[in-house]
Amino acid sequence: MHPSDRPVRPIVVMKFGGTATGSVERMRAIGALVKEAHNDVRPVLIVSALAGVTRQLDRGLQAVVAARESSDAAVETALGVFLDDLTTRHHTQAAEVLSPESAERYTSVLSDHMDALRARMTDIADTGFTPALRDSVLATGEQLSVPMVTATLRDRGIAAHAGEATTLIRTDDTHGEANVDMAATEAEVTKWFDTLPPKSVPVVAGFIGASTHGATTTLGFEGSDYTAALIASFLNAASLTRFTDVDGVYTADPRTDAAAQRLDRLTMEQAFAWTESGRLGMHPKTLRPLAHRAVPMQVRSIDRPEAPGTQIVPEGASSIAFWPPAS
Ligand code: ADP
Ligand code: ASP
Ligand code: MG
Repeated sequence: MHPSDRPVRPIVVMKFGGTATGSVERMRAIGALVKEAHNDVRPVLIVSALAGVTRQLDRGLQAVVAARESSDAAVETALGVFLDDLTTRHHTQAAEVLSPESAERYTSVLSDHMDALRARMTDIADTGFTPALRDSVLATGEQLSVPMVTATLRDRGIAAHAGEATTLIRTDDTHGEANVDMAATEAEVTKWFDTLPPKSVPVVAGFIGASTHGATTTLGFEGSDYTAALIASFLNAASLTRFTDVDGVYTADPRTDAAAQRLDRLTMEQAFAWTESGRLGMHPKTLRPLAHRAVPMQVRSIDRPEAPGTQIVPEGASSIAFWPPAS
């Protein structure tokens, strides 16, 4: 078949949360899944920081701010412990998941980010905390997970390309819970996507954006779900799959309610009602862009991707191209 005769592969946005990026086995599972998906669809990846890292960054920041009240030595100790823990976590996982060459390259990226993080934390220790500095610290988690996922894919022969969330996601300067400028973000996302080679698999950090002044902003905790929905809607994706550590949406949080039951399907209206009451286990703004452009979503398990999961289908969604396919 002539390449131009091949059917255009539908765009499927895949969101891998911290639960998926945060362990060696699951990071490997991401590589295997994307490799398989790439045969049928055009995957676009949105990834979160390794599980727990965003909160670790927040706690580290608070520890440094608290130590500032005592002494320079206390600041240095708090900073040292914090940076060592983060470095070890990422270094250990990269060494296990990546090929030796990729691991070596990742170590150098890690070291650059750690230097930048130390500099920001030192600024905070010297001049005090600002919401903008906090955002630039919190963003580090995704900035460290994107290159690890990208390298995982490249090790499997996939042409992964890291996209820059601070260019793509344009926000106001409400640090900590920034509001997205829809028109500007749509323009950036579509312009960027058009420049990508068709075979490439883009990998973008969730949770992060940049203000009109160019300062790094964040979209609120669990913000990667929202980034994934925004990108899926602006690319008119066939669907969005949110891979997480449970096999779908349950009637209640399955970790705390043993009687919770998985739902096969929710209408967008039902899902909205659930989100309002905080029962959906994802960022509250996630559904808005999907409903707006009638993009269907599914929630699947990273451990059992073949299990049916839960579909959230907007009214008027015409071609439902899920990946993994609906069973
Ligand atoms: P991720 O890293 O994939 O974003 P999260 O921890 O943010 O993972 O979200 C997944 C978690 O959401 C599940 O482990 C579960 O405890 C919780 N959760 C809360 N409510 C629900 C629900 N109704 N259905 C499924 N999971 C839920
Ligand atoms: N890493 C961010 C958080 O922990 C965003 C996300 O995971 O969705 O909230
Ligand atoms: Mg989450």
